[in-house]
Amino acid sequence: MQALPPLPDPETLAASVSAQDRSAVAKALNLLDDKRPQARQCAARLLAELPKRRLYSTGHLVGLTGPPGVGKSSLTAALVRVWRKRGLSVGILAVDPSSPISGGALLGDRLRMLSGSQDASVFIRSLACRGEFGGLSAEVWPMSLVMLAAFDMVLVETVGVGQKEIDVSKLTDTTCFVAQPASGDSIQFLKAGIMEIPHVLVVNKSDVGMAARKTLSELRATLQPPAHAEDWRVPALAASATLGTGIEELADSIESHRAWLADRGSLAPVRQRFQAEWIIKRLLEEFGRFGIERLGGGARLLSLLVEAQGSPFEEYDALRHRLLAGWRE
Ligand code: GDP
Repeated sequence: MQALPPLPDPETLAASVSAQDRSAVAKALNLLDDKRPQARQCAARLLAELPKRRLYSTGHLVGLTGPPGVGKSSLTAALVRVWRKRGLSVGILAVDPSSPISGGALLGDRLRMLSGSQDASVFIRSLACRGEFGGLSAEVWPMSLVMLAAFDMVLVETVGVGQKEIDVSKLTDTTCFVAQPASGDSIQFLKAGIMEIPHVLVVNKSDVGMAARKTLSELRATLQPPAHAEDWRVPALAASATLGTGIEELADSIESHRAWLADRGSLAPVRQRFQAEWIIKRLLEEFGRFGIERLGGGARLLSLLVEAQGSPFEEYDALRHRLLAGWRE
């Protein structure tokens, strides 16, 4: 039997992650994936040791989603090039529903091809989508936090085909949806309100010409102007990952959305809310509605958790213990 890896010292690991040590980031992500109870405790301490400011107030957590084959990994590679040119370090979580190994490896190959070398400021981790969490695996949130502690840009790439996929919008500051030229699906989903409106829309493969232009104008026609002047106005852009056109504009739009959030002081509250929802969802999975009611109901829990100061695991464990203690009495 293969020996399990010894558990790392969480304080040392947190310091190395914050110093952007890529092997430490890899170790930390493995730890979050380790289901042994001691590993969970160690992971909770690791998360608690990461600098709060980096987790909730700095960096940029970006979701890139769209149907398979639309060019998400090609766009990711192109965006990474732009971000690196701008002096930003990048961490990527590629959530592949079918083939975590080949998906991540493919993206890795593309990035290496683009940057020509092993860039120490780019880190990629592919992740199996276990489907337990409405499509996204439960580890994505804590893993995003580890990445935020290490890198300026954290991109979560997920496959999304229509209805539930904008899942990633429950985790990321800015959600970017990539549409396929000549595909009416995304337009229909947007129109029908099935798909949550992303913050940035991009039609990739603009090099195909007419079909891409038509899709772009249809998408623009679908988007409602914001109700208030100060609301975010969703941009719809055209890009070609192959030709490298429109990528700077895409990076600018993504950055503008972050600036818009930051101007309103919304970055930390948005991330706190994601974390609160993540905790509630986990509790719901373990204890059902009854458990949530025992803890005062979803709304009350949410308002408590958005103010909570602990790491996601600490807060979750505290509530779990409260429930179990209550049941034992
Ligand atoms: P993903 O499944 O969404 O990650 O898509 P990929 O990045 O793997 O790309 C799927 C296919 O589309 C590949 O054959 C790419 O070469 C091609 N592709 C990606 N971007 C473009 C583009 O801008 N223009 C054209 N014509 N093809 C592209």
